[in-house]
Amino acid sequence: MVPPALAPPVASIEAPPLAPPAAPPKQSDLPGAQPQTTDPIPSSDPASTSTPALARRRWSPSRQTTGFFSSVVFHAALLIALALAVEATRTLGTAPFAIELGNQDPVRLESSENAPLDPQKQNDRLEGQAVAVNVPFDDPQLDDLRQGPTGPLVKPGKPQPLGLDSGKLAIDDNSPRGGGLEGRGAQARARLLPIRGGTPQSEAAVQRGLKWLAFHQRDDGSWNFNHHGNRCRKACRHPGSEASTTAATALALLPFLGAGHTHTSDEYGEVVERGLYYLNNKASFGPRGADLRDGTMYGQGLAAIALCEAYAMSGEATIKGLAQQSVDFVVFAQDKKGGGWRYEPGQPGDTTVTGWQLMALKSAQMAKLNVPSTTFFMVEQFLDSVSSEYGSRYGYLSPANPGKTTTAIGLLARMYTGWRRGRPELKRGVALLDEWGPSETNMYFNYYATQVLCHWGGPEWERWNPKMREYLIATQATAGHESGSWYFPDKHGDKGGRLYNTAMAVMTLEVYYRYMPLYDREAFSGDVAERKAGE
Ligand SMILES: [Zn+2]
Repeated sequence: MVPPALAPPVASIEAPPLAPPAAPPKQSDLPGAQPQTTDPIPSSDPASTSTPALARRRWSPSRQTTGFFSSVVFHAALLIALALAVEATRTLGTAPFAIELGNQDPVRLESSENAPLDPQKQNDRLEGQAVAVNVPFDDPQLDDLRQGPTGPLVKPGKPQPLGLDSGKLAIDDNSPRGGGLEGRGAQARARLLPIRGGTPQSEAAVQRGLKWLAFHQRDDGSWNFNHHGNRCRKACRHPGSEASTTAATALALLPFLGAGHTHTSDEYGEVVERGLYYLNNKASFGPRGADLRDGTMYGQGLAAIALCEAYAMSGEATIKGLAQQSVDFVVFAQDKKGGGWRYEPGQPGDTTVTGWQLMALKSAQMAKLNVPSTTFFMVEQFLDSVSSEYGSRYGYLSPANPGKTTTAIGLLARMYTGWRRGRPELKRGVALLDEWGPSETNMYFNYYATQVLCHWGGPEWERWNPKMREYLIATQATAGHESGSWYFPDKHGDKGGRLYNTAMAVMTLEVYYRYMPLYDREAFSGDVAERKAGE
């Protein structure tokens, strides 16, 4: 997420990833030296001058879309078949990008055995003012918007999954091959939720979270980490201080997309549509692609993920160009020596910013957009450069002082860049997450670690999931204006505020269907995995 501020000065004993303790930071590394001022996105770019009208128009379909769609439908059928097979297994879906709300790990270490999460403690903090809110979800205008002359591209409520080219990464049964978006449709969600460890209560919490997010969207389609604008009128506490509106908007869009809502959906269709238009208006187009930073590369990575997902799920041709160009800018901004990303294009990378960009690239791949294979190879090179214990732990700028959050990010990145489940380094890393258990306050860590363990499956997931799930259900605000949101007094959470915490919590509870499992069933029937690993 957002940037620097989210990377607070080191205060914890455990290696704070965002603030490398060792070498004195360069000017550009200092939180205060962040991008907002160095490379602001011109608000008067050509794309934005012509668009007030856009805000109320449907994306227009094209022939390209039709051809694209046939392909999508075909692949979707294949993927669904695959999904059904995989589903029988017990892993969980995952999600890729996480936010960089400071990757400082929490000072308190929660051992899964010794220190149970304490929802009551959070609830005490969460009690808010009782302000009655009437969220206007049923806007009759929406119906008009959706009934274009050509009809909706996608059947409302039934997103067309693009999915990953499932054969592409497959080397053997033990290799990652899933990770697509095809679990997000209404029927797939209902099917996958119980199989992967979700409950009706966790899904109800997701729905309440989406409602809160929708209510806090601004009139121009954006979200802001300071959620006090527009309808909120400061009725809920804990506004964030990060400035990037593209990061906030993308982060708020992702939970809607994660639950299967596109711009054509009956429910929240307009919310998604307005958010996408905001990103479109905010983009600065140039020879290197669409610059959506609005601050730093955090905003770019998040926006690229949202756009790629929106395109993959809807097949909407008008989104395709913007999604591709946003990814082009990510490719351009990679450090061509080290392979990572940081706040500014070309800077030597850090693990948290790199995590978001990698997920943007993987989302692009799922959407069948163009990503040079060399870009992925270089990401692996970067991961090598910050890992220790053969890849079980990850630091922020180097292998030194590997933290919990950066380790979770690094492990998920390894899964997405093709590490087989049988790799002993991966197993050791997963054992660490299992030992640490969910954090009470660090949603950045929780978001990534939950995905890693969900993909991993097995007893580690069985231990993690009920703790994480029940903790989030218990800590969601249930009264007054804040109802449906989350806030954890964490040094990262403070920067992103209630909006960040809510988006991260919702996506964590969407883990059961948001991404398909990366490993198929044989991968986690232990014997097979172990045997193959030993070969
Ligand atoms: Zn509010």
